[in-house]
Amino acid sequence: MRSALTNGRILAPRGIVSGQTLLVSGGRIEALVPSTDGRCRDATVVDLCGRFLVPGFIDVQVNGGGGVLFNDEPSIDSIRAIGAAHRRFGTTGFLPTLISDDLDTIARAILAVQSAIDANVPGVLGIHIEGPFLNRARRGVHDSKHLRPLDPSLLSLLCRLRTGRTLLTLAPEITTPQMIAELTGAGILVSAGHSNATFAETISAINQGLRGFTHLFNAMAPLAPREPGIIGAALYDQRAWCGIIVDGHHVNPVILQLALRCKRHDRFMLVTDGMPPVGSTIPSFQLQGRTIRVVDGVCRDEHGTLAGTALDMAAAVRNCISLLGLDVAEAARMASEYPAEFLGLGSELGLIAPGYRANLALLDDTFKVVRTWINGRED
Ligand SMILES: [Zn+2]
Repeated sequence: MRSALTNGRILAPRGIVSGQTLLVSGGRIEALVPSTDGRCRDATVVDLCGRFLVPGFIDVQVNGGGGVLFNDEPSIDSIRAIGAAHRRFGTTGFLPTLISDDLDTIARAILAVQSAIDANVPGVLGIHIEGPFLNRARRGVHDSKHLRPLDPSLLSLLCRLRTGRTLLTLAPEITTPQMIAELTGAGILVSAGHSNATFAETISAINQGLRGFTHLFNAMAPLAPREPGIIGAALYDQRAWCGIIVDGHHVNPVILQLALRCKRHDRFMLVTDGMPPVGSTIPSFQLQGRTIRVVDGVCRDEHGTLAGTALDMAAAVRNCISLLGLDVAEAARMASEYPAEFLGLGSELGLIAPGYRANLALLDDTFKVVRTWINGRED
């Protein structure tokens, strides 16, 4: 069964193209062809009505959505509900994200993600375990009772996911370069966050395989004149990816524009750090016994500490255009192609190109999502 997606503005690897038809078959992208191509004749035609067709968004930091928090009930049903909530905003690939919790909950979360992958729950690409190996001084809303150092005895727990990606956020200064090398050697993607690591500690971690930075600028030692620190290393070193929250609140847009001038754009990726309010109208939710309120689209605890976001990926893309001055193509790449590369999935996800999985989002002229496809299937 072949579909022919016609009459769209399609974000191809070479840029946005019009007047071409996208052929999809077997859940994969077959080709981008003129509408006169013979293969269009026996295909089911889908009229894109002149809208933007972009690669489906990939979000490596999703704590919750649709009123559900992954930490509350790390189950396949939670993952399904969270994925469905984010899909309405163009996310077709995501990592359910568990913030610092006890080891039993981490084990249950990994099991739930494995079950979700085995059951083909749409969009699940793996798990993000954020903490509990974080610096107490930069814990943010993470509960200090769960924080602990990372030692080799925990390696087997962290390696339990058989398929899909495991992303681990840790503070490099509370473990060792050797441990980071062991984790990356075991196939875990390691990202630095909630950290006061020095520049030297961070570069050493990158040399051992550290692959990314979790919500760059937030919950990190600030850039300082005599100690560039973790942020200085993230911007100076060209290898590792930076996850950024572009909601207009977590990081000043000027700071983000400065960051984008420091290194290749393909080393930045949009994350939502989304919480239960995404795709829901709930005014508050419980986070490990604390009430988090949503005021003007921002989630804070009773002390005013930011507690994730109510941001969806389509809004993040729009913010990149309106706040950072990026064009729609580059904003969409930061939400698809670049996170796919970060996850090591850049040969099958993140591009509209032959052989890639047909994970797609259709945006209207205001960059709101109107349709999505995962493996060629519309929801
Ligand atoms: Zn965090």
